[in-house]
Amino acid sequence: MSTVLNPPPTVRSFRSPTSRSPRVSMLLRSTTLSTAAALPILTKLQHDCATPLPLLRNIADNMAADMRAGLAVDGGSDLKMILSYVDCLPTGHERGLFYALDLGGTNFRVLRTQLGGRDERVIDTEFEQVSIPQDLMSGTSDELFDFIASALAKFVKKEGGKFVLPNGRSRETGFTFSFPVKQTSIDSGILIKWTKGFSVSGTPGKDIVACLNEAMGRQGLDMRVSALVNDTVATLAGARYWDDDVMVAVILGTGTNACYVESVEAIPKLPGHKSNSGKTIINTEWGAFSNGLPLTEYDRAMDAESINPGEQLYEKTISGMYLGEIVRRVLVRMAETGSLFGKHIPEKLQTPFALGTPNISSMQQDTSEDLEAVGSILYEATGVDSNLDARKMVVEVCDTIAKRGGRLAGAGIVGILQKMEEDSKGVVFGKRMVVAMDGGLYEHYPQYKRYLKNAVAELLGPELSSHVVIEHSKDGSGIGAALLAATNSIYEH
Ligand code: ADP
Ligand code: MG
Repeated sequence: MSTVLNPPPTVRSFRSPTSRSPRVSMLLRSTTLSTAAALPILTKLQHDCATPLPLLRNIADNMAADMRAGLAVDGGSDLKMILSYVDCLPTGHERGLFYALDLGGTNFRVLRTQLGGRDERVIDTEFEQVSIPQDLMSGTSDELFDFIASALAKFVKKEGGKFVLPNGRSRETGFTFSFPVKQTSIDSGILIKWTKGFSVSGTPGKDIVACLNEAMGRQGLDMRVSALVNDTVATLAGARYWDDDVMVAVILGTGTNACYVESVEAIPKLPGHKSNSGKTIINTEWGAFSNGLPLTEYDRAMDAESINPGEQLYEKTISGMYLGEIVRRVLVRMAETGSLFGKHIPEKLQTPFALGTPNISSMQQDTSEDLEAVGSILYEATGVDSNLDARKMVVEVCDTIAKRGGRLAGAGIVGILQKMEEDSKGVVFGKRMVVAMDGGLYEHYPQYKRYLKNAVAELLGPELSSHVVIEHSKDGSGIGAALLAATNSIYEH
């Protein structure tokens, strides 16, 4: 599926000692016998993961081209370019009480917000997080939705204080559902398949809003689902409520996805779609992108052993679920052929996903002289003993994988901006424009975030990048779904 670029000549010369990065040569000088044998593995990794500007440009161009091809016909490219049916974004004028329900992983969240229009904005917000019991993740559809509806009903019972529902109205909720859905309208969608460890029987092929409605009925809960959205779309809505210039939203958490504001006439595959605003939100499902990615032998092995080989290759190079695992695979190689951690290779190190992305991020934050935190994280997660040289080498590996991930994510963002600009000159470049970011990886991995922003700046140049604001929109997705319930309310407001 993926085309792997031949590294341009500038990258090849990276192998020659004269062009080694200062960090590598520092490492070289301090290298003892214990790490010398692992050094060629690091050098090759850095070479294979290199993301020089021409490669990033190619990624951005390919992303823009794949978006266009995915908009032309269904199945036209790796990118599904799904119509969200969200044609109106919040303006700030929304008023009233709205709920949101967010089911996207092992937790689900319920939230209510009281909106006071342009002047008062968000009068109050409350939320609760409930973890989904393990057995319900592989039970029946009714069991899962009964559990959700019952938690929601309990939450509704506690409504009071500043939260008021006008007489004669039903409560309305937005439903953020981050699994693959074939959306059929703003408030209905068919579940294609469960992912992320869910294998609930009876839901695939069904309208999940109907499943939820039936369960709410069984709980005696009078609530209407006004908007079914995924987390990316909810993030865009949540950020737009505060800032009219938000045009793109990107999630970098366990997985990754992006959505953006598109003109209806730029979607050839949907000639009949009507939108009063002339705009609609397209959910790119960009995790499936693959064209031109610099992949290593470690990526290929991880992909081959994954539950979805050949799929979600961009997600597998840039998102939180995988970065730690790629690092672990490199460390196994360094341990086996470079004896990086001595003769004994603990079983833990050989266990897939033993090293998480939070681990590699924490290791990169260690500024102590003896890299003590690196040593203890390594020991805790993988069971290896490490000396200082080995720890330095490990940090270099983490940095290499985070750098490639962050820079490729940045190039993807530029690809989206390019596509928008090509269609209507001046819509993106030349005026302020905001990309709303969310997800644990972006939020908690400072080096990754820096690499992403630097790549965007390199690609756009100083003039254009001065107008592009890449902004963290914390928890925008929770309130975003409630805001979309408001903009799609059946009542006037
Ligand atoms: P989800 O994507 O499952 O909805 P989040 O947006 O909270 O959830 O992202 C969680 C993911 O973020 C984790 O799977 C992990 O990969 C990543 N992450 C969490 N904490 C950190 C951290 N400290 N450093 C780097 N990545 C982190
Ligand atoms: Mg999430």
